[in-house]
Amino acid sequence: FPVENIRNFSIVAHVDHGKSTLADRLLELTGTIDKTKNNKQVLDKLQVERERGITVKAQTASLFYNCEGKQYLLNLIDTPGHVDFSYEVSRSLSACQGVLLVVDANEGIQAQTVANFFLAFEAQLSVIPVINKIDLKNADPERVENQIEKVFDIPSDECIKISAKLGTNVESVLQAIIERIPPGVIANVALFDGVVSKGDKIVSAHTQKTYEVNEVGVLNPNEQPTHKLYAGQVGYLIAGMKDVTEAQIGDTLCLHKQPVEPLPGFKSAKPMVFAGMYPLDQSEYNNLKSAIEKLTLNDSSVTVHRDSSLALGAGWRLGFLGLLHMEVFNQRLEQEYNASVILTTPTVPYKAVLSSSKLIKEHREKEITIINPAQFPDKSKVTEYLEPVVLGTIITPDEYTGKIMMLCEARRAVQKNMIFIDQNRVMLKYLFPLNEIVVDFYDSLKSLSSGYASFDYEDAGYQTAELVKMDILLNGNTVEELVTVVHKDKAHSIGKAICERLKDSLPRQLFEIAIQAAIGSKIIARETVKAYRKNVLAKCYGGDITRKMKLLKRQAEGKKKLRKIGNVEVPKDAFIKVLKTQ
Ligand code: GDP
Ligand code: MG
Repeated sequence: FPVENIRNFSIVAHVDHGKSTLADRLLELTGTIDKTKNNKQVLDKLQVERERGITVKAQTASLFYNCEGKQYLLNLIDTPGHVDFSYEVSRSLSACQGVLLVVDANEGIQAQTVANFFLAFEAQLSVIPVINKIDLKNADPERVENQIEKVFDIPSDECIKISAKLGTNVESVLQAIIERIPPGVIANVALFDGVVSKGDKIVSAHTQKTYEVNEVGVLNPNEQPTHKLYAGQVGYLIAGMKDVTEAQIGDTLCLHKQPVEPLPGFKSAKPMVFAGMYPLDQSEYNNLKSAIEKLTLNDSSVTVHRDSSLALGAGWRLGFLGLLHMEVFNQRLEQEYNASVILTTPTVPYKAVLSSSKLIKEHREKEITIINPAQFPDKSKVTEYLEPVVLGTIITPDEYTGKIMMLCEARRAVQKNMIFIDQNRVMLKYLFPLNEIVVDFYDSLKSLSSGYASFDYEDAGYQTAELVKMDILLNGNTVEELVTVVHKDKAHSIGKAICERLKDSLPRQLFEIAIQAAIGSKIIARETVKAYRKNVLAKCYGGDITRKMKLLKRQAEGKKKLRKIGNVEVPKDAFIKVLKTQ
């Protein structure tokens, strides 16, 4: 294919606006998939994607299209449609020269529409607005055209109005791809120069490792081997790399003994949400280990470190791009690998700027990242603490604006902007501490707006924060697994909540138990579990001896799972209840 007949594009949309349906229609129209077969949403391959209706891993498909006697190769690079995967979105976009921005004719512009538009705009791609679902009874395409003009400054006559479901006007989308998107290259692998064939020896500029090419080919949308890939082509390459960390996104590959200057790469995905993962039962450790290894093999954005907890046993500390990313990973473990896991409340990576020269020497740097609260350096040893922040976009019907602003303020967010995108829809921009949205922000937003508000966010660096380390004490002894880092202003409410949860899940014992939350030596919350003598035999007055023995044995077994903090016995269940998400 001559380069001028190649178009690389992506479809981006707010969730449910019809990206997958449009992709299916384009694949059908170009004869890439059979219309009669039940090929609905061919690009959504994973079970979790089909179930949740979201795309997690980007897929690529090559479409062949004839137009005015010329044959075109259209590479459709599918992108995830959710906030957490904006890294995957950027990565997919970097392989494109244009995007189809799909907007639901009824719902109009939503938060992800805005985020996706700006990702494409910043990457200097051509944006083709596609207003979808014009067949709906409540569709108002003119209103959406006006929103697009107001928010994105795209003339309304550039919008293409379609029904992906019925196939109405989808042909003009193909026309627009050819007319409005500049020709170009790049995808899974993009050949910038020369030829690569099966059997060639290649070198990675990133790792300097040498590989033999076992297979090259194009994506159609499944891998279809070809003998060679030529400059200007996009496709895939298999080269016996041992694991995903060797296949870095943005890496430059060149032929062995013909070194080239590496092309500018992309920054690697950095995890923003961390959580502990433990097998429900330690005997499941090895199964879980291999399941995690397999899953991370095709999702290199998850970071894995071994970790252990006195209460929960051996496990891992995993890093995810966002909360949904974490949920999806967890769901895939359960569905695809049948694993039962305990996932602890997520935390974000804080930073500390060290002042103590001894600590600087120890860490070999002035600024350290704290993933584990146990490593939180004391205030006397730092000049400041920093927390990650994100720029959030919320789009909502005006009637919910007041309540949403209150929610944002309660989450320590700072308003940056507010505009009306049409007569009764508002777009709000807030700077959020990431920590304030990782737990239940999205759910709260949805419930107070009856599901109408949409939310998306992008990384916005770090800001100074007054952080403190909070201990939980049982009769004066620190419970190591419950140490947390929290914002000073939130310490009291979080401490209180943990004490209450612990009170509800701790069985009464022979003595009173004081549950306290403390910052240094200052107690900020307290609950008490009253003393109680648990007599397992009380119920079976005079009953038969075997039943008595059974009960005694059961109590002894129960005790094995207990952990002693000072003189207080804490069952594993109590830890799980306090540590688990929700
Ligand atoms: P995605 O999340 O952007 O990939 O959206 P999907 O393609 O999965 O579509 C979400 C829902 O909208 C599905 O139930 C589709 O059947 C429906 N849908 C997509 N396009 C149209 C359309 O043109 N008209 C109507 N009425 N429904 C559509
Ligand atoms: Mg989809």
